[in-house]
Amino acid sequence: MTTLPDFSGFRRVVIKVGSSLLVDPVNGLRAEWLAALGDDIAALRARGADVIVVSSGAIALGRGVLGLSRGVLKLEESQAAAAVGQIALSKAWAEVLGERGITTGQILVTLGDTEERQRYLNARATIGRLLDLKALPVVNENDTVATNEIRYGDNDRLAARVATMAGADLLVLLSDIDGLYTAPPGSNPDAKLIPVIPRITAEIEAMAGGAASEFSRGGMRTKIEAAKIATTGGTHMVIADGRVRHPLQAILDGKACSWFLTGSNPVSARKTWIAGALEPKGVLHLDTGAASAIRSGKSLLPAGVKRIDGVFERGDAVVMRAPDGGELGRGLIGYDSSETALLAGRSSRDISELLGYAGRPELIHRDDMALGSA
Ligand code: GLU
Repeated sequence: MTTLPDFSGFRRVVIKVGSSLLVDPVNGLRAEWLAALGDDIAALRARGADVIVVSSGAIALGRGVLGLSRGVLKLEESQAAAAVGQIALSKAWAEVLGERGITTGQILVTLGDTEERQRYLNARATIGRLLDLKALPVVNENDTVATNEIRYGDNDRLAARVATMAGADLLVLLSDIDGLYTAPPGSNPDAKLIPVIPRITAEIEAMAGGAASEFSRGGMRTKIEAAKIATTGGTHMVIADGRVRHPLQAILDGKACSWFLTGSNPVSARKTWIAGALEPKGVLHLDTGAASAIRSGKSLLPAGVKRIDGVFERGDAVVMRAPDGGELGRGLIGYDSSETALLAGRSSRDISELLGYAGRPELIHRDDMALGSA
């Protein structure tokens, strides 16, 4: 029997809340339910965990206000509904968490923000800084500008990308079902909930089917896609019943749910990705001091770079070489090649004077580095 991770041991948790939990088609926002979830989130933070919420509900809230309650919405109608509903959604989260002493920050992302490396770094840095400042990021897709080709369309996969991007160790998908069943439970009385999925096999994928409800776009299939993204990125994922009061507490209390386990951890998964998956676009030649600093786990500062080769953009992978020419490792660079050339050999204190804006002090952050040749 597989041992489940200790829920209370997680340090960074992403909680995805589906539209059908948050919004009643007739009565609008389910304020009491949200308040109970707010208590759970406050308790999780009180135990020292960073929490990020990925909340759906903008379209569901906005369509009622605009009188678009019936039927399937056209793209422009969804965008209009999201424009109206997102304000209400953010307000609801800010109020509920504010009452519990938690500051929230709204982050709206599109597909490009998580899939293009440069924007990925920007989104990740903002989320990281909000968490450093003890604020709680509330994330949704920027539905008002996302068109079909460039949208996620479902917050399950978006939440999984946010979780791996933020180096979360757990993603909780609160849903209107309590987990993955061997067959659709509505039509098959013999269907059984699968409590632990150590690996996503073809058989598991086949169990997912395709259904989606009127308000939430993601059925079980997008949840399995999310599980793939999360577990390859080093994040455990759990699908749990969100329809109960205090749904996070219910998971802690052992209520039935489905765990998708990762064999990796976010940092090592990310480093494997940096080491192997990206084509390096440039080379940084380091001095002895910088070479030993990064070997001891520090970030790379501009002062330790003697020379650079190649043309690269912020977020590209570059190789770091020791004075003897040996490859020290690879990393995602925080500046493009012309900026890096200006900064090389200079103190981080001079960055704003050299570039005309206040940039980050390190060229490559230690979390964005994989040491040892790939
Ligand atoms: N982003 C959409 C919204 O806030 C929801 C997408 C989904 O249901 O997964 O309305």
